Amino acid sequence: MAWTSEDSNKLYGVSKWGSGYFAVDPGGLITVSPFKDGAAIRIAEVVEEAKARGLRLPLHIRFQDILQDRVRRINEAFTQAIEESGFRGSYRGVFPVKVNQMREVVETLMDAGEAFGLGIEAGSKPELLLALSIHKNGDRLLVCNGYKDDEFLRFALMGRKLGKKVVVVAEKLEEIKALIEVSRELNVRPLIGIRIKLATRSSGKWATSSGEAAKFGLSTVDLLEAVALLEAAGMKDCVSLLHFHIGSQIPDIQVITRSVREGARFYAKLSRMGCPIEYVDVGGGLGVDYDGSRSAVPSSANYSLREYANTIVYGILDVCDEDRVPHPVIVSESGRALVAHHSMIAVEAFGRIKKLNTSKNLVVPKNAPKVVRDILEVRETVDAGHWDEAFHDLAFYRQQAMSLFDLGYLDLQSRAVVESVSWEIAAEIARHYEGKTRMSDEMRELVSGIKDQYLLNFSVFRSLPDAWALGQLFPIVPLQRLSEEPTAKGTIVDITCDSDGKVDSFIGDGEQDNEYLWFHEFDGKPYYLGFFLTGAYQDTLGDMHNLFGRMDEAHVLLDSDEEAGWYIDETIEGDTIREVLEENEYAAAELVRSMKTQIEQAIKADVVRPNEGMRLLAEYEAGLKRYTYLVVDAPGK
Ligand SMILES: *Cc1c(COP(=O)(O)O)cnc(C)c1O
Repeated sequence: MAWTSEDSNKLYGVSKWGSGYFAVDPGGLITVSPFKDGAAIRIAEVVEEAKARGLRLPLHIRFQDILQDRVRRINEAFTQAIEESGFRGSYRGVFPVKVNQMREVVETLMDAGEAFGLGIEAGSKPELLLALSIHKNGDRLLVCNGYKDDEFLRFALMGRKLGKKVVVVAEKLEEIKALIEVSRELNVRPLIGIRIKLATRSSGKWATSSGEAAKFGLSTVDLLEAVALLEAAGMKDCVSLLHFHIGSQIPDIQVITRSVREGARFYAKLSRMGCPIEYVDVGGGLGVDYDGSRSAVPSSANYSLREYANTIVYGILDVCDEDRVPHPVIVSESGRALVAHHSMIAVEAFGRIKKLNTSKNLVVPKNAPKVVRDILEVRETVDAGHWDEAFHDLAFYRQQAMSLFDLGYLDLQSRAVVESVSWEIAAEIARHYEGKTRMSDEMRELVSGIKDQYLLNFSVFRSLPDAWALGQLFPIVPLQRLSEEPTAKGTIVDITCDSDGKVDSFIGDGEQDNEYLWFHEFDGKPYYLGFFLTGAYQDTLGDMHNLFGRMDEAHVLLDSDEEAGWYIDETIEGDTIREVLEENEYAAAELVRSMKTQIEQAIKADVVRPNEGMRLLAEYEAGLKRYTYLVVDAPGK
């Protein structure tokens, strides 16, 4: 049967991780529907339009409408849970800016959140100064987490003086003491939050924020002392928020159930001790289903948004009713779930490194050492079924052959035979093991090591830092040709000079990750791939390894007045070479001056002619204004 877009949809899991936003159209293109209502944008067309406007790849694309949609959906999930349960409190979200501090993102969220009273959360002094300025409506919360010095506290209380609902969340006992002093000095009544350490622990890659050994939060002993200190200072009535956060991307709903009940119990007990707590802040952790498996594995989550909201609302309601205390305002600090979907990166493939470098035309020289014939014999017998044995024999003879080469006893012709035949044997063994769940580490390495590597014009360290640092999975899919069957498989390597600059773990069937991705044979036209769900954490965690800078950016908005139904609202040019150099303290003028001196010397020494020298200098100067990434040709020409 002929391959269709639907086959590609299954192969790449698009409708699973795409959760209504991303799909494959019958023409084989990936589309995005920011409001999940059918109004769809073909992403390859956005790339072409951006190129026509002078933008380059890798290209960062933001769908600002998705931010709006996320804000609305998260708020509606809580409102619905509150209505259905008869909970008498309300819900307030705050956006933790550390998840994406880019101005356009924060501003869009604040606008979209106006109707829902979406607040903002800051975890450092720079984030607080950002938040103070952007937070305009006094009714929205401004929650301060993270370690704080006196200066931090002063800035927070400055916000109180301006009538903002700034809540200072104490992460440790000393912060309570400092807050008592600074607020007396400034003569303001603070809104005090207390972060508690829960015993409930999360799992997954971000689990260490939880449990009794966590770096943040007060133990029960400290909590009681904090209340006593505040009481003595006449400030017990300032305690208005109870906070806990057990980690990001919580994969398992059971963990949320347990932590919410444990946290709500703290709230209830403190209320009964006379602390007039108004807000219970359940932190972040709402998971994003990056691999589409809807399971309790690190890159997924085994619950929906609706189940998440229900779990929190019913959990708090139960505990409050048991302890006969008022229903609080529920605050959540979802960052990842708000922003992950809205942004993606389009990259261009520009080549393939063929791993199976074999040739049928090689002849074994007459005088070749015995080891060459030994290896040929392994090839003859490899398919007899003793796969591991064949692998070990191969390793042994190869080692022998390489030693002989080093000593001068193996000619190039023989070495070529050894390499070519080794690849053939390795391929045969890998074919046997591929897709098997049980195999030794050396076999796993063989199976993935034998895959072709696709060269993509981007830096993992800049664009997908969590894929490198944490082995987090992101959906990666060709943006076009999805109505054709992809017939080649391989891993991805980037353009940094670093062997860690690669992606070799991909979305699998949920049980197991894939060690390769499917590609189409190159046909001489540009071949674009999309990295999806990159809106959370990746934008500002990314670093300048090899001095690859910020990417060009296109912001896309739906608009039914446009013929295509969308337009590029704003473009932002990425870093130039000059900018990344200056960030590392190289003044462009100095660099140019030094080049000029060297060129003048070369002219004097008659190494270059004056005309040529001046042209070189002009080229160098122009080069400083260029993009940090490669200018590549379409592969397969
Ligand atoms: C990082 C962080 C968050 C955001 O968590 P997500 O899992 O991205 O929603 C919320 N609260 C605190 C205290 C954090 O440190």
